[in-house]
Amino acid sequence: MLSIKNLHASVEDKEILRGINLQVNAGEVHAIMGPNGAGKSTLASIIAGNEKYEVSEGEILLEGEDISELAPEERAHKGVFLSFQYPVEIPGVSVTNFMKTAINESRKANGKEEMPANEMLKLIREKSELLEIDRKFLSRSLNEGFSGGEKKRNEIFQMAMLEPKLAILDETDSGLDIDALRIVANGVNKLKSKDNAVVVITHYQRLLDYIVPDFVHVLMDGKIVKSGGKELAYELEEKGYDWIKAELEV
Ligand code: ADP
Ligand code: MG
Ligand code: MG
Repeated sequence: MLSIKNLHASVEDKEILRGINLQVNAGEVHAIMGPNGAGKSTLASIIAGNEKYEVSEGEILLEGEDISELAPEERAHKGVFLSFQYPVEIPGVSVTNFMKTAINESRKANGKEEMPANEMLKLIREKSELLEIDRKFLSRSLNEGFSGGEKKRNEIFQMAMLEPKLAILDETDSGLDIDALRIVANGVNKLKSKDNAVVVITHYQRLLDYIVPDFVHVLMDGKIVKSGGKELAYELEEKGYDWIKAELEV
């Protein structure tokens, strides 16, 4: 699904990613963990196509195709989803209408006709029931006055509707209370399938009690310095990151 080879990237001449290699297959859930400032969000942004970062070396393949020169929208249309990519408030545009537009734009970009209205309604009903989202929420203005938990709910709803091949969830800092954690975890667990892949970025081991990853990677100083199974997350919870640093220095 996703294959990253020797990825180097910088912002304002400061090298942040220093040779990332990562292989994610369909059907897998990967967790990327690491201390603050390691480059986790940078990696997510670069996969999604954020133009702020300069990729100086390496490649990003999605299903074998190099996507590293594509614009963010083009990557999205090919099935890359990054959480919080569009946290804009749009007064007067409801959660549902924003989704309808996004889905039809994506279909157009892929040479398909607009989704018939009845099919769209069915999809919205199906996904909102799956995620236990009520009608009132669907008719609210996008992100306007949303609480942290509601933003998460909207994000996971977007993911469910768009059915991405590759979903990247960057669970940054303290916004994740226990409710938000459950929303994200439930969403991921219900939506993962043998045909898609999920990359969860977090420095909270707690999230991984709910989303069980197949692989855990530790990102430090712009490199993946250790990979393992879900037990690695528990080891990090217990021992922090310093022992890995020590291991690397030996
Ligand atoms: P993480 O998500 O692992 O906490 P980030 O990817 O956010 O780390 O940041 C990695 C490093 O890159 C940090 O030192 C951060 O200050 C720097 N950085 C990220 N984005 C920018 C930017 N737009 N301008 C300048 N420095 C940045
Ligand atoms: Mg950070
Ligand atoms: Mg971050």
